[in-house]
Amino acid sequence: MSNTFGFTISARQGRARTGVVSTPKGEIRTPAFMPVGTAATVKAMMPENVRATGADILLGNTYHLMLRPGAERIHNLGGLHRFMNWDRPILTDSGGFQVMSLTDLRKLTEEGVKFRSHIDGSEHNLTPERSMEIQKLLGSDIVMCFDECPALPADRKRIEESMQLSMRWAQRSRDAFGDRPGYALFGIQQGGLEEDLRAQSAEALRGIEFDGYAIGGLAVGEGQEAMFGCLDYAPGQLPEDKPRYLMGVGKPDDIVGAVQRGVDMFDCVLPSRSGRTGQAQTRMGAINLRNARHKDDPRPLDVECTCPACANYSRAYLHHVIKSQEIIGSMLLTWHNLHYYQELMAGLRGAIADGTLDDFVARFHARRAQGDIEIL
Ligand SMILES: [Zn+2]
Repeated sequence: MSNTFGFTISARQGRARTGVVSTPKGEIRTPAFMPVGTAATVKAMMPENVRATGADILLGNTYHLMLRPGAERIHNLGGLHRFMNWDRPILTDSGGFQVMSLTDLRKLTEEGVKFRSHIDGSEHNLTPERSMEIQKLLGSDIVMCFDECPALPADRKRIEESMQLSMRWAQRSRDAFGDRPGYALFGIQQGGLEEDLRAQSAEALRGIEFDGYAIGGLAVGEGQEAMFGCLDYAPGQLPEDKPRYLMGVGKPDDIVGAVQRGVDMFDCVLPSRSGRTGQAQTRMGAINLRNARHKDDPRPLDVECTCPACANYSRAYLHHVIKSQEIIGSMLLTWHNLHYYQELMAGLRGAIADGTLDDFVARFHARRAQGDIEIL
């Protein structure tokens, strides 16, 4: 086990890469998918089961944890890893994105963001310095810079000013983070869909120097075509030898396209959130188990999947427990969806290592185009 944070690329195909991010708490195989454990839990899953799906790292949300139960409380209870019983790496976001998206009453200044909690209306102040302090109190292994991100579409002036503010906050984040061997700080590239602004942002971040670089400000309503257009140049503007993390993305086909364009790390609530509403993410595309076609179907959700939902239950049972709002419905579909995402990432890693990524991607799209198995 490594005592320091590092990144090694073992194979490349086109712009895609596979490798390992090493941390004192364990290795993260890339391309990696990070399940989202918003409030110190991946909803409906025990942490050991999240690990069993193949996850090497979880994501925690600074905004939620600072409000409830509070960063100081988690610190006093031994840190987030111990608190939630997950001893492997954890990445935390900075809180910036969720403050902007979840709170109505907020005031953005050069200093930071003042806002009221969506839980009890209490007043809080989040700055680059406080975000670094909270993420340190949580014991996060990969800390994200505090940044600001406008919803798209936004005019160029708004995107440019926001990006420049984020770059000043990136320097303040770097200064506040200090020297912490074994822990990593990632910078976040902004600039919307403007190639020159993305280049300016990358240049500013390179000047500050980070352990990894995130591509922020995408998957905020611009659509897949525009996102891929941006990913045709954005990863290449960032340092080649550091991990690249596309924040908040995405659907399986978004991930495959982004891996082809040189992204190493992903997070998204989709597999866990959609599982709780009865939607399964599969090789055949998204399948809605609430649909009446599954009511009498004794077949597994996916005959090739080895997760407990597919190995031990019928589509009819999954339909029944989802329709009846039984807790096991959320458990089984979340497990299946996280399993599917991790299998997809393992497949991408293997294909890049073998030099067969193009075939893998062609098979991925062909199977999805066929859709679900025929109705009985
Ligand atoms: Zn399954």
